[in-house]
Amino acid sequence: MRAGVLFSGGQDSTTCLAWALDRFDHVETVGFHYGQRHAVEMEVRDAFLAKLRAIRPDWGAKLGEDHVVGLAGLGAISETALTRDEEIEMGESGLPNTFVPGRNLIFLNYAAALGWRRGFSTLVAGMCEADFSGYPDCRADTLDAQMRAISLGMDREFTLHTPLMHLSKAGAWSLARELGGDALVELIRTDSHTCYLGERGELHDWGYGCGACPACELRARGWADFAA
Ligand code: ZN
Repeated sequence: MRAGVLFSGGQDSTTCLAWALDRFDHVETVGFHYGQRHAVEMEVRDAFLAKLRAIRPDWGAKLGEDHVVGLAGLGAISETALTRDEEIEMGESGLPNTFVPGRNLIFLNYAAALGWRRGFSTLVAGMCEADFSGYPDCRADTLDAQMRAISLGMDREFTLHTPLMHLSKAGAWSLARELGGDALVELIRTDSHTCYLGERGELHDWGYGCGACPACELRARGWADFAA
């Protein structure tokens, strides 16, 4: 019962990590450097993992290696507001320009290739259809097709769990509380990173961030609904 969690250090992936640790015997984490502006999300990962081990030694015992994969090429070919210093806005395609084409598809390929070596064929990731942005690579249809391609292409059955797929952001906070109580909620609040601009100056009631970018707005609204 081994699993690999796509772990970016954000609210969603930290919640997914707790979900996986609640269910599997051995859990490894993988994060990706792809030239994201909010690379600070990668820096909060180590502190989060250390504190998670401290509040839940039982989970710590199941927590295996953390892997970081460099995907600078993705950032280099992507002209998006996540990988360039530009304003976040709606693009002509009807998608916000924070959409990095192919990102989640590529992440899943790499995670599966890693699982091939590390002995896990179960992946856990925080994609969510309720996401405000409507990213097409977060949809269940897309992910089902991708996992089928991966399983065929590697001739091994890989499965993907997306525990947040149909949850609101408030629902994700509630799930965190179910899994790890107030201590986990507090850890995610203070030690996960969501803000697209990489801002971690001021601690708001919903966590750190600029408070104005779409990711912060979504997180703040979710927290307000959860806390209400
Ligand atoms: Zn922000």
